[in-house]
Order: sequence, then structure tokens, then C-alpha cells
Amino acid sequence: MSIVSSVKSAYFSGTVKTENMVSKLMFGLYLHIPFCVHRCSYCDFYSSTQYRAEDFAALADKLVWEAGEAAAWLKAQGHSQPVTSIFLGGGTPSLMPLPDLQRVFEGLKKSFSWQEDAEITLEANPETVTEAFAAGLREQTPVNRVSLGAQSFQARHLQTLERLGSAESIQQAVKRLRAVGFENYSLDLIFGIPGQTPQELVADIESVVALQPKHTSFYSLTLKPGHKLYGGLPSDDTAADLYELGRGRLAELGYEAYEISNFCQPGFESRHNQLYWQGGDFLGLGPSAASRFFWNGRSHHRKQIAHWETYLKTASFPSPEFEAITPNQTVLESVFLELRNRAGIPLEAFHTRYGYDLAQAQQLPFFEKQGLLERTPTHLRLTSKGWLLAEGIAQRLVDLPVGQSA
Ligand code: SF4
Repeated sequence: MSIVSSVKSAYFSGTVKTENMVSKLMFGLYLHIPFCVHRCSYCDFYSSTQYRAEDFAALADKLVWEAGEAAAWLKAQGHSQPVTSIFLGGGTPSLMPLPDLQRVFEGLKKSFSWQEDAEITLEANPETVTEAFAAGLREQTPVNRVSLGAQSFQARHLQTLERLGSAESIQQAVKRLRAVGFENYSLDLIFGIPGQTPQELVADIESVVALQPKHTSFYSLTLKPGHKLYGGLPSDDTAADLYELGRGRLAELGYEAYEISNFCQPGFESRHNQLYWQGGDFLGLGPSAASRFFWNGRSHHRKQIAHWETYLKTASFPSPEFEAITPNQTVLESVFLELRNRAGIPLEAFHTRYGYDLAQAQQLPFFEKQGLLERTPTHLRLTSKGWLLAEGIAQRLVDLPVGQSA
């Protein structure tokens, strides 16, 4: 059976893909640690500040249990792909005591096979990275990459964002991680904070680069209408100018964008990020965590610990929120995600994998004429101008009715 027909038969039968197809994909685990000391003003991720020290041990047990159930389900579906990346996000995973983190990793190791060089990232808030935590993380867990939420180095902007950290705590955290041998760390930076000047943005970028991270994520502040900071957001044009300014300065300093919001030194693209943007499968464990299996469907745990706990007691994997993805949805979502990559979408591989020839997309000539999309001998990609409009282009490029076959 060809890859395409195996994908299609999987959709229609609601069953399994072939080994052949799965081997083409990356496979990642995402674990959500839903506790934070304090809620930052802009945050849209699920977390609770109502927790006790012992809740982490219970959380670890439940994550391990869910991992076992999910692994058994995947095995029954014929999924044998080893784990290529693990990401502990939140929430604040760096609040989790080391013995609980160790138990989580031991559980994951029992349930899944891992690629030998799997990328294992823990998200950390700088102020939680003590010397003891950094050393324990290095020595007692398989974590080999740390993603630090810096967001800004300016006190007034950290205050607007209601971050607990400071420029000093970011620098200290990096120093501590480096001292115990972590070389692969990433710093997150936000632009478009109300009142942020271009000079302040450049200063933030230079502060990030001074800490020599292998990778940095550079995000615009995104808020829903009605949010108390919404009125202070820059206009779309100003935000676009800030992005261009930041991208240019990062490039001058040796950090190329491999995806719209992600920059790195050569060879340090985040494998887990790439999995999201290149159509890999991922399994989400913990409250609010999402899973996606392109051969079958996706699911999303609800954003409450209590809901997740009830599901753990009453259901087996996949979760009740499981939703089959139609072939057309898959094509649309894949375009949406994969266009974000600097390299663009590999046209032939895309055609083979999803049965849809993007080179024939009705709107393609229009976007090419506008200078927003361009073709290389092998890929379709956004131009520099197109990067700022990625979402709208992706939505309009493919004209397929959702819910029907490609
Ligand atoms: S620490 Fe992170 S997850 Fe927690 S509230 Fe702040 S931004 Fe959200």
C-alpha cells in the first residue's frame, strides 16, 4: 500500500496507518505541569496557583499512569515510532521537585522507547532555577535542554507582564545552568509590550545574545480584546516593524529564523518545535495538553485539573475530546503549520504525504504575484514580506471544504 493510500484508508476506517507512513514522522511527548506561583498578566496557558507541595507527587503518579495508558493504546494502533523529543511545559515545570521529575522520566522510559539522542526540554522560570535545582536537573534527570522564560530585561516591562523574574534572575539562571554543563538552553523574549520602544527591544535582544543561548523564541504579545492591556498593544504596522527590527538584529548577531518566531545558532533548531511545524505526531499528557496523530485525529484535555483527573479515573486513552481529522482538515492544518518554516513546504513530499498538489492551488499565482509566496526548485515558501502575513496566506491558499476528502 502506498503512503497516500494508507493515510487515506486510515482516515476513512478510523483505524491504523502502516509502518511505512509512521516511520516518516517525528514523535514527541508534551507533558503539562499545571502549577504556577503567580499568574502573569498576559498568560493564556492553563495553570493554577492553588497547589500544595504534595500535589506534585500526585501529579507525577497520574502523568505516569496516563503515559502507560496512552502507550498501550498507541501500541494497539500499531504505532511503534520511538520518541524523538519530550517537552515539559506549563505552568512552571521547574517548580516540580526533582524526585517527582525523576519518577516522571522513569515512567516515560518504561512506557515508550526513546531515540538515543532524543531532545528533552524542561521549561523553567528563571527565578526558580537555584544552584541545587540546576545541578539535580543535570545529574538526576535526562533533561538536555532548558527553555527559560525571560520575556524582557526591562523592569517596567516585566512589571507590566507581571513576571516574577528580573534581569538579574535571568542572568543568574543562565550562569547556574552553564555551571553544571547545560549548553543547550533557549530564552523566550516578547515584543510589542505596551509602551515598549524600538530601542528597548534592541536592548532586550542584545541582553539575550550576551547570554549566548543556542536558541531564542521571539514572540509578539498576543491578547484577547477586553484584556486590561489590550488597548496598549501596538498597531499591526508597528508590531510588524518591531518584528522586522528584531529579526534583523538577531540575524546580525548570528541567530537565524528557522520558523517565524524561533531563532537559533546553526544546528540548534528545537526538534520539538519542528515537530509541531513539520507535521509530526505528538502525545500530550496532563491537563490542557493536546495530542495530534495525523493519521487519525487529535484530542485536547480540558483546562481543569479536576476534569483531567476524572478522565483518568473513568476513561482510557484516547480522551473523550478525541476528534477525527478529515483529510481536508489535515491539508489545511499542514499548510498553516508548515508554511511557518523558513524552508517552506517541500512540494513533492507534501503531495505524496497528503495527496494534495500545492503547486496547483488556485490562489498560488495571486500570492506569487503579490510577492508573498515564492517557489524554489523543491519548496513553496513565504517571502520576507509574506512572513508577516503568514496566517492569512495559509488560510486563503488552499481552497478545500473542511470535512471532505482531499
Ligand atoms: S509562569 Fe508561564 S505559565 Fe505561569 S502564568 Fe506566567 S506565563 Fe503563564
